[in-house]
Amino acid sequence: MSEKVSVEKKVLSENDRIAAQIREKLGAKRIVALNLVSSPGSGKTSLLERTLDALNGDIKMALVAGDVQTENDAKRLIRAGGMLVRPIVTGGACHLDASMVSNALNQLDLTDVDVLFIENVGNLVCPSSYDLGEDMKVVVISTTEGDDKPLKYPSMFRRSSAMVINKVDLLGLSDFDVSKVKDNALGINGGLRIFEVSCRTGAGLNDWYTWLRELIIRKKRNET
Ligand code: MG
Ligand code: ZN
Repeated sequence: MSEKVSVEKKVLSENDRIAAQIREKLGAKRIVALNLVSSPGSGKTSLLERTLDALNGDIKMALVAGDVQTENDAKRLIRAGGMLVRPIVTGGACHLDASMVSNALNQLDLTDVDVLFIENVGNLVCPSSYDLGEDMKVVVISTTEGDDKPLKYPSMFRRSSAMVINKVDLLGLSDFDVSKVKDNALGINGGLRIFEVSCRTGAGLNDWYTWLRELIIRKKRNET
């Protein structure tokens, strides 16, 4: 085994150990944890802003927002009404790891929280390898990207439980084909739950909210 591979293995197994602690902590509190992954600009923060706007006061949300250099996304989430928001500035790292998330969670009061959203760094490659203790990964893709993204980044789509197709209001302005992206994604992971939304117009978001509520109910009943 090359030295590089063995170092990477060590890093990932240490990550897995911390991720397991996070999963245990959140599980004991019956908190649904979702790890949002995407390319830069697909609309993770916009989806969370909409979700806060629609469900705040109804369900209690904690949010951890990862970014390479700024706290801009975390500030947007606070402005959107997020009461429990922690930024993680990775200082150049292109993914979140479990220890960053663990530190952020230690600074949040998770009492009565129903759902934790982790907004990962915009990158479809290495975030797929880092378990953050989440229940599920949710991959966001927008219609301004290529509909072959699932074929280019299969491990991310394989490891995700849901795919949100954002910016459907822009369909027709590019060659993006919704049925193609679905076929490409489902060919890799037939179990993907798919949402077609526009975070700009609000189209399709009710299905997303309903799904979140169902996840929370199932978690409280200890079914997940
Ligand atoms: Mg963002
Ligand atoms: Zn990375």
